[in-house]
Amino acid sequence: MEDSMKCKRCGTCCRKGGPTLHSSDIGLIHSGCLLPRHLVTVRAGELVYHPLKRSLMVLPKELVKLRGRYGSWACIFYDESEGCTIYESRPIECRVLTCWDEGPIAGLFLQDLLARESLIPTGSILFEIMEAYDRAFPTRTVLDLLRSLAEPSHPPSISAELERLSRADETFRQTAVSSLGIPEDSLPFFFGRPIAEILAQFAKGPAGEKQPRDRPEKTGSSSFRVEFDRFPARSCIPPRHSGGGRNPV
Ligand code: SF4
Repeated sequence: MEDSMKCKRCGTCCRKGGPTLHSSDIGLIHSGCLLPRHLVTVRAGELVYHPLKRSLMVLPKELVKLRGRYGSWACIFYDESEGCTIYESRPIECRVLTCWDEGPIAGLFLQDLLARESLIPTGSILFEIMEAYDRAFPTRTVLDLLRSLAEPSHPPSISAELERLSRADETFRQTAVSSLGIPEDSLPFFFGRPIAEILAQFAKGPAGEKQPRDRPEKTGSSSFRVEFDRFPARSCIPPRHSGGGRNPV
């Protein structure tokens, strides 16, 4: 095999972001190798970066992936001196990803995804709370508001509604921690990315290029300061009814 077709374990792919999980990775969760605090859910309907088309898309179905580390793109299991700290138990995307051939990773894109409902018993109290969250904070509403915000003459009420939603989301999460005992570091798995984080991603624009995949572990109210006038141009946001590699966020 040519040298250019051997993994040098340089860590480039790990620094660019952790993998999305697929059905074949479920054993890593059952064995305790991957815990809720290592994961983040990206809910269906969120705007994400399509790693193969290099453009934005509306995520057609939920996915769960490994979180970033300390607000960077780097996989939570990547260590600069040690490399992958779970190398023998790394998820399937990490096993098939190579620098010289996108084919195998492209073949996994959005296929056999692990979702929260595969991991949390339906009918459990936790599952019902997750459903209640999804009803209260639907991604469609956030996306519609973002589209309206991208209109040149949007009314001020759009910004106000986004901010209200973001604060209500934050309150919901704080209550989940204080009243239900859900660990704060596991909130991104159980409820997905906070709305403030989704808004901040687009406020920082321009969308379509890789953004930090995860924010610092805590998302407090003081961190929510979206500069709405810096939202990306309308053309950055896919039109309504848009259909739905690695690292799609
Ligand atoms: S699990 Fe390991 S191989 Fe996969 S992205 Fe993370 S550090 Fe890299």
